[in-house]
Amino acid sequence: MRDYVILNNNDNVAVVTHDVKQGTEIMTGIKTLQDIPQAHKFALADIPKDGEIIRYGVVLGYALDEIKKGSWINEHMLRLPKSPSLENMKWGTNINKNLPEPPRKTFMGYRNSEDFYAGTRNILGIQTTVQCVQGVLNVAVEKIKREILPKYKHVDDVVAVNHAYGCGVAINALNAEFPIRTLQNIAKHPNFGGQLMAVSLGCEKLTVDKLIGTENNTPENVIILQECKGYEAMINAILDMAEKKLKILDKRRREELPLSHLLVGMQCGGSDAFSGVSANPCAGYAADMLVKGGATVLFSEVTEVRDGVNFIAERCISEDVRNKLAHEMLWYDNYLAAEQVDRSANPAPGNKKGGLSNIVEKAMGSIAKSGTSPVVEVLSPAQRPTKHGLIFAATPASDFVCGTCQLASGIGLQVFMTGRGTPYGLAAAPVIKVCSRNELKEQWPDIIDISAGAVVTGEKTIQEVGTDIFNFILDVAGGIKKPYSELFGLNNFLCVFNPAPIT
Ligand code: CA
Repeated sequence: MRDYVILNNNDNVAVVTHDVKQGTEIMTGIKTLQDIPQAHKFALADIPKDGEIIRYGVVLGYALDEIKKGSWINEHMLRLPKSPSLENMKWGTNINKNLPEPPRKTFMGYRNSEDFYAGTRNILGIQTTVQCVQGVLNVAVEKIKREILPKYKHVDDVVAVNHAYGCGVAINALNAEFPIRTLQNIAKHPNFGGQLMAVSLGCEKLTVDKLIGTENNTPENVIILQECKGYEAMINAILDMAEKKLKILDKRRREELPLSHLLVGMQCGGSDAFSGVSANPCAGYAADMLVKGGATVLFSEVTEVRDGVNFIAERCISEDVRNKLAHEMLWYDNYLAAEQVDRSANPAPGNKKGGLSNIVEKAMGSIAKSGTSPVVEVLSPAQRPTKHGLIFAATPASDFVCGTCQLASGIGLQVFMTGRGTPYGLAAAPVIKVCSRNELKEQWPDIIDISAGAVVTGEKTIQEVGTDIFNFILDVAGGIKKPYSELFGLNNFLCVFNPAPIT
């Protein structure tokens, strides 16, 4: 087992793979000057005041004071560099044509009739226009699951698409397009098999017409609670409609499909300094195999890639894609600036405890999960993709907000990398957990699906673990395996991204 990891020959820091005591000769000629916690950095050379601190071959920041060789480097010891400029970013200068060949090129999915991605699960999704209906709908869904769903063996689940949007919001605000688009697109999620069912209160601002379209606003698809005579009638109406939809969904069958029918989302949360060493590069390798096989992969989280955006621009296949990337970054810069928030608001305290000093270090690790494929499209939050390949889908970094946006984009499943650990999950699509270090897998053996920790210790390569992740993705997509979050029903509330005012 190795004691430290150096990622790039130009780095003047290394990351320790386990807690190291002060005075340890960690490498020839370098003794640790303090205790160094696992995943934290130490200096490989003397760094003068204002000198560059380099990891991943990029400048993480500048030393606030002189740092001696062997010294622990924590977040209080460096000053942030400026964000990369969004003007005239180079594009197309790093287009990788040598992606790894995937071991499999098909999966067992639910083909969708429209020209969109396949489902990975067969689910009745019940849409809501407003949160007011949630109490009634939740009772009805419990009853459906208990009394009706067991009759329909080919349907996996019934999911109430509850959310906090719909009323008390500035529905005509410029940025209202974000939450409205999110809910419109979730209603069309590939796992819902084109079956529309919506529950409305009757007086809300987000009308049924707006949510599912005038053409779909029919008595076969919509229940309006204010038109029902009392509670019992509401429950019965929801149960009756659900059964009709379940009968149709029960006819769906998996079929062998090429990977071009598969849409996978990548996300990370609770990152540590190993996320960028093990979990994210392994997921990136799986992403490269997926793209090579014809699948589509989304990566997201604007604030976590902002400080490495130039490295994404280099991989954009056209000037238009680069421009859209710059546009999405600028939108977010302005969104934060309007509230006088800067990017130092990220990382979270747990990230720092995990050895991540600042957002630059986090960004370089975060981008690693996108692999090395060319970027063929950039999406605004919750838009649906129009291309196949690697796509940057702009979203906030917040796990549940990003998850909700990617669901709206139509992901069949999400791969979630974590260093510190989170039991996060989505009801409408499986979430696979990949952790960055073995200790977390030992602590949470039945929450974490795959550990990339063997890459940290040097026992396995990124390619080996990346191939394991790829195979697990296809097994989960094909319904052969379930990740733990799905097995135990660990689901987060949908958090719709609403940058518009609440009234
Ligand atoms: Ca996240």
